[in-house]
Amino acid sequence: QWIYLNGEFVEKEDAKISVYDHGFLYGDGVFEGIRVYEGNVFRLKEHLDRLYDSAKSIMLMIPQSKEEMTDILIKTLQKNKLQNAYIRLVVSRGVGNLGLDPSSCSNPQVIVIAEELALFPKELYESGLEIITVATRRNRPDVLSPKVKSLNYLNNILVKIEASLAGVSEALMLNDQGYVAEGSADNVFIVKGNTLSTPPGYVGALEGITRNAIIEIALELGYTVKQEPFTRHDVYTADEVFLTGTAAEVIAVVKVDGRQIGDGHPGKETNRLLEAFRAKVIEDGEK
Ligand code: PLP
Repeated sequence: QWIYLNGEFVEKEDAKISVYDHGFLYGDGVFEGIRVYEGNVFRLKEHLDRLYDSAKSIMLMIPQSKEEMTDILIKTLQKNKLQNAYIRLVVSRGVGNLGLDPSSCSNPQVIVIAEELALFPKELYESGLEIITVATRRNRPDVLSPKVKSLNYLNNILVKIEASLAGVSEALMLNDQGYVAEGSADNVFIVKGNTLSTPPGYVGALEGITRNAIIEIALELGYTVKQEPFTRHDVYTADEVFLTGTAAEVIAVVKVDGRQIGDGHPGKETNRLLEAFRAKVIEDGEK
């Protein structure tokens, strides 16, 4: 497996960065997780826009243009002979001194890892997920915007730890006011009748690319889509609940904090949206 590391392709074992990299020392950097379906990079423009916006927000200058970055991603896929893959694109602040001040870091590090995708097991799509809500809160948008997909993922990691301690594979984070924000690395939707609701960015959700694709698809299919704050009560009493994300695509949730959702099986609308999403992915590739 070849890793792109600052202009070169190196073998996985040799792909190393300095212990003085501020990405390592402080989580100072940004990243994207991107999906490739049959050689087509899904929603590449949206991913690059989000990456460059995240970088701009934290005053990190990505040395490459978006066109150059596209080229790097394609070359990484070719080098690894991958048609279906998950790409991790990381830009860290680079090597500096031990102080926090990023002005000591002159060279951002650009890393691209492309791998065969490790999907959630098929059974989980058939059975649906049991999840919980956890004590870890999403950081406030006025502190660091949730739109910034930074390397600082401690909240999300704490969510994962709380979930696994409770014996479930995923959990929902609330924001500091108690509104539901998102999962550890997925957005959340609730379905009630013909209406889908998902938390707006200002509640503390990353504006996921999959989330946005689902909103688009749902509108095309005639659903009403609301981006509105909601509470745990609304989740417990929804007809259906599902999560969206680059790796998971669309996955049903059948139990939240011990409350069964609907009949305890992946819902009809969730399955319909997942099917439409999979069709969209192919359709996008044919364009
Ligand atoms: N929320 C967080 C915190 C994430 O890290 C991710 C993953 O990228 C998502 C939501 C889902 O976003 P996307 O659909 O762009 O993968």
